[in-house]
Amino acid sequence: MTVRNLFLLPGDGIGPEAMAEVRKIITYMNAEMAGGFTTDEGLVGGCAYDAHGAAISDADMAKAMAADAVLFGAVGGPKWDDVPYEVRPEAGLLRLRKDMELFANLRPAICYPALSDASSLKPELVEGLDILIVRELTGGVYFGEPKEIIDLGNGQKRGIDTQVYDTYEIERIAGVAFELARTRGNRVCSMEKRNVMKSGVLWNQVVTATHKAKYSDVALDHMLADAGGMQLVRAPKQFDVIVTDNLFGDMLSDVAAMLTGSLGMLPSASLGSPDAKTGKRKALYEPVHGSAPDIAGKGIANPIAMIASFAMCLRYSFNLVKEADTLEKAIANVLDKGVRTGDIMADGARQVGTVEMGDTILAEFKALSA
Ligand code: NAD
Repeated sequence: MTVRNLFLLPGDGIGPEAMAEVRKIITYMNAEMAGGFTTDEGLVGGCAYDAHGAAISDADMAKAMAADAVLFGAVGGPKWDDVPYEVRPEAGLLRLRKDMELFANLRPAICYPALSDASSLKPELVEGLDILIVRELTGGVYFGEPKEIIDLGNGQKRGIDTQVYDTYEIERIAGVAFELARTRGNRVCSMEKRNVMKSGVLWNQVVTATHKAKYSDVALDHMLADAGGMQLVRAPKQFDVIVTDNLFGDMLSDVAAMLTGSLGMLPSASLGSPDAKTGKRKALYEPVHGSAPDIAGKGIANPIAMIASFAMCLRYSFNLVKEADTLEKAIANVLDKGVRTGDIMADGARQVGTVEMGDTILAEFKALSA
């Protein structure tokens, strides 16, 4: 039987509460669907700092590197506001991304029909929305050198960040976008600022060349990133897959996120290069939200972003496409039936806590899988 190694890092705040609901689904899949998942669990963030004085221990880092996929909850909270910068809770996530070389960040923006009223846009603009933003995660202006503030000696200072991309970085992120497009609507829109940035000119050239060389069956468009932002709020359903750099991706994915309603609904995946021998990509799946200290421990957090992150894991790390579709359908059905956590509550709906939301989705998943 296939063995699938999952490393769970629930983290802080609502992370462990949301992860508990995923664990139930894993247990069910192992018992009834030959899931074959083995799970190990570690500490990340503030809880790791309390235990080891580091945001993730070397031992847990090694487990993350060896796993087929990492499921990550959330980190941080006021308790650790004053810990030294290098060991702050977020440093655990940054180390995971860096050491696992997770260069491709996938953020789907899906608007469940039952939640179209929760969007800041008109329901008809977002109902049925299903777009995927593929953001380059390890290069660009957040990492380019020089990166500094220099004193000009005349009472002025100068802040410098450097936007820099090499051909290989653009090729590999474009490849991920084209490959994912083939599993969806077969369309990619690449966004940059070639009108004012040299890195944008190169981005455009490399995406075009990659498309021509290997992916000409996929439809490709180019859009300036500012126009792309405008189109995302004007007519978001025109997009299938959007590929863009680290900075523009950071902003555009947050814009797309708010089209769908609550933070508690948004999953994400971060992928590395395929292993030369096995073809497997290193991968980490996490909800977009943080540790929500304001509601932690109250049993009211929405576990859907975490459960939907697990659905992405089934799809992208294990090619369990049918199971991923079924889990996503289970989430949609439960929302259709008017079951809601507080963050997505609507008139006439039934409000439930974290555990009941998880149980209801699991029951629906079982019914759909039967
Ligand atoms: P947050 O996402 O934790 O919370 C923002 C708001 O959304 C809060 O009111 C919270 O209650 C609500 N919310 C978030 N997720 C929810 C869910 N699943 N169900 C219901 N409501 C939900 O962001 P924040 O308040 O800016 O940050 C809190 C802590 O989390 C900080 O320490 C921050 O550094 C950390 N953080 C961690 C990550 C991560 O682990 N990837 C991401 C963002 C923030």
